[in-house]
Amino acid sequence: MKSTSFASILIFTGCLQFACGDVASTQTVKPTPTPPAAPKIIAQKFAYPVGKTETLTQAKDKKDEWYNALDFGENNHLGEDWNKNSGGNTDCGEAVFAVADGRIVYAENAGIGWGNVVIIEHELADGKRVRSLYGHLRKILKNSGEVKRREQIGEVGNADGRYLCHLHLELREETCPMWNEAGGGYSSDRKGWLDPSDFIDKHR
Ligand SMILES: [Zn+2]
Repeated sequence: MKSTSFASILIFTGCLQFACGDVASTQTVKPTPTPPAAPKIIAQKFAYPVGKTETLTQAKDKKDEWYNALDFGENNHLGEDWNKNSGGNTDCGEAVFAVADGRIVYAENAGIGWGNVVIIEHELADGKRVRSLYGHLRKILKNSGEVKRREQIGEVGNADGRYLCHLHLELREETCPMWNEAGGGYSSDRKGWLDPSDFIDKHR
């Protein structure tokens, strides 16, 4: 009799423990699986951020063409100012395209003097990274995720009415002290900035 009772207790406590364990397991928060690393997007080729086609000729006699109104380095400019030949505000609202495949890392109004700004990160085939910045946008059409070369990301604007419409384009390498922000647009120290047209032409 004694041994039977002892066995019953064992079975009972065993069941109880099982039940307790079962309840506990349903309340345990499962660890969040680590998201898979985002696939690499290699920027194989670059293109100009404005114009109907990739082959920007900058022909002065064509109204539909674009020209660089303020070059990189001119008056300590850290980028290039792209305007349409038709002049004035005729380029307001024109399409602004990503210069290469990449990922949007910044898309917001950067304040007075900037207006809406988009920054895209591009990984090059050699592992180096560069970032392209698009300033004074009237509208941001894409504010996160992957972009393809020549995908429209915004519209040419006037920095909330501060200038005649134009696109301010910068290209930066990883040593850029303003890597994560809009920055100042002008500086006598251009270390970390690249000449946008030179770079685009070398990587077309
Ligand atoms: Zn500018």
